[in-house]
Amino acid sequence: MNEFELIARYFRPSLKRAVLGGGDDCALWQPSPGQQWAISSDMLVEGRHFLPSVSPYLLGHKALAVNLSDLAACGAQPLAFTLALALPSIDEGWLQAFSGGLLALADVHGCELIGGDTTRGPLNICITVFGEVPPGQALLRSGAKVQDQVWVSGALGGARAGLEALLGRLHLSEQHLQAARHRLEAPQPRVALGLALRGLASAAADLSDGLLGDLGHILAASGVGARLDADALLQAAHPVLQAVGSTQALNWCLCGGDDYELVFTAPPQQHQAVLDAAARVGVPVTCIGEIVPGSGLQVQHANGQAHSLDGLRAFDHFATP
Ligand code: ADP
Ligand code: MG
Repeated sequence: MNEFELIARYFRPSLKRAVLGGGDDCALWQPSPGQQWAISSDMLVEGRHFLPSVSPYLLGHKALAVNLSDLAACGAQPLAFTLALALPSIDEGWLQAFSGGLLALADVHGCELIGGDTTRGPLNICITVFGEVPPGQALLRSGAKVQDQVWVSGALGGARAGLEALLGRLHLSEQHLQAARHRLEAPQPRVALGLALRGLASAAADLSDGLLGDLGHILAASGVGARLDADALLQAAHPVLQAVGSTQALNWCLCGGDDYELVFTAPPQQHQAVLDAAARVGVPVTCIGEIVPGSGLQVQHANGQAHSLDGLRAFDHFATP
């Protein structure tokens, strides 16, 4: 099979919205009148973003999921994506499974694969997603205000527990191992929640590197600080973290990475509206603290004692060998 047969067989799905998809020099897309594009790219590199043991179906899923998560964080509606792929060789079993996982998630979100690039090389997957949002309604990192409440969706720290377990550094029961591994390998992008938060959230980001880093970006962009409630944060911890002590659980909520939940802020008057919006789309949300004047993050227990952040840091690809 040559490069073009490979593309035609695995990466040219039938299209509904595109004017022209893969097969020509460019894809063509007719933007909806009056909408803005939301555009984001994310690359997955073997050994850095995923373990060689991951199933190709889930790898296809995750490669698109992490990109859709960025659209979710902006409150954008997914439309289309391109796929740039480097493969060490043509392995049809692998390609079938990879494109199966990729296109299944694409279908769920009505996001069309409209083109890309394919070459031989160390396994590397780069996706660019295109979404749309009405002007002025994108959820940005820069809008958090003092007294806003800080919220997270879903459950935190489960993906980190899954990684630690797969690396043999954490022992989990079989049931917890399956759940944690699922969190790591099959994240669910919170697209519907992002859309539901338009007009409610003052700022938002997705949690790819952990709260410390991703909420940190919101705080820096907004020129504010945040005080988080350790007990509320533990309520948002994934149930598998019951296998570790509460200090470790808090730390993995703060700098676990790979959760692909949303962290967002909203004015306190919108508390009930946020709960209602989240209930409408069936995603649990937890209020974990508030925005305060100043800068940086503090985490406090109910008795006023601070949870130490010493030595904790968000995941940084250039800081970790
Ligand atoms: P060009 O040489 O003009 O850059 P290519 O030979 O790279 O075009 O690709 C041929 C066609 O196949 C293009 O329309 C491109 O968008 C599409 N394509 C290439 N790789 C992929 C891929 N991994 N997924 C989807 N479409 C792809
Ligand atoms: Mg060309």
